[in-house]
Amino acid sequence: MYDYHVHTTFSDDASLEMEVAIKRAIQMGIKEIVFTDHAELSVWRPNGLIVDDLFDIPSYIEILYKYKEKYKDKISIKLGIEIGLQIEEKERINQLVNEYSFDFVIGSSHTIDKYDLYFRNLFENKTKEEAYERYFKEVRKIVEKIDSYNVYGHLDVVRRYAYTEYEDININNIEREMIEEILKIIIQKGKGIEVNTSGFRYGIKSTNPDIDILSLYKSLGGEIITVGSDAHKEEDIGYKILETYDLLRDIGYRYITTFEKMEPKFVRL
Ligand SMILES: [Zn+2]
Ligand SMILES: [Zn+2]
Repeated sequence: MYDYHVHTTFSDDASLEMEVAIKRAIQMGIKEIVFTDHAELSVWRPNGLIVDDLFDIPSYIEILYKYKEKYKDKISIKLGIEIGLQIEEKERINQLVNEYSFDFVIGSSHTIDKYDLYFRNLFENKTKEEAYERYFKEVRKIVEKIDSYNVYGHLDVVRRYAYTEYEDININNIEREMIEEILKIIIQKGKGIEVNTSGFRYGIKSTNPDIDILSLYKSLGGEIITVGSDAHKEEDIGYKILETYDLLRDIGYRYITTFEKMEPKFVRL
């Protein structure tokens, strides 16, 4: 098992100490764990301010490397980050990614117009179709313009938040066409996607993206794919990763991807 998406106390929504996560991962027989704490530039907060939601990256790296050395005989530990992608912040995102020698960068869309999807502004006075269209249009612009990431995080994560707003959160044909365009750009640019298993914990009963999008990516020639639990708590480390490997095998994938210093390496499933 390779868990390519784990948050620690460096993310302000996680309470998981890095060493606790490592010990748990070792116990579970995980071969490699990648810490991917959150960085969001210029986002709206409930106090009305637009702020950079960043963490102390130099300390993060220092602590991570200390544990990497300490546990080197038991588990491989990689330096990652999950960055919220926004077109207006492109230059600063590039700078941040280039400033440190990350092994792996997840680029995710967590916000629309600086509002975190969590706050549900996207869904106000909108049908599900309108909200999804707005979301995927934004993702398409981002994949066209921003390149400083390895895999796109939880591509259809809008479904996770739509879950509390609409009875039907499925993706229809118009949205699927937009997603196809997005996947083609991702593939053409040599980027990949992640399969995020946390959807099951959020009640949507599927991975993000779901099996249809994963099949579409495969049929379009997509090969770069990582799997991550998006753990914010100890018990979520490794969550449904083996089941997801089975799912990928069923779809026809032969390899998953690992990264070192931003370079993909393929591991047979
Ligand atoms: Zn995320
Ligand atoms: Zn995450």
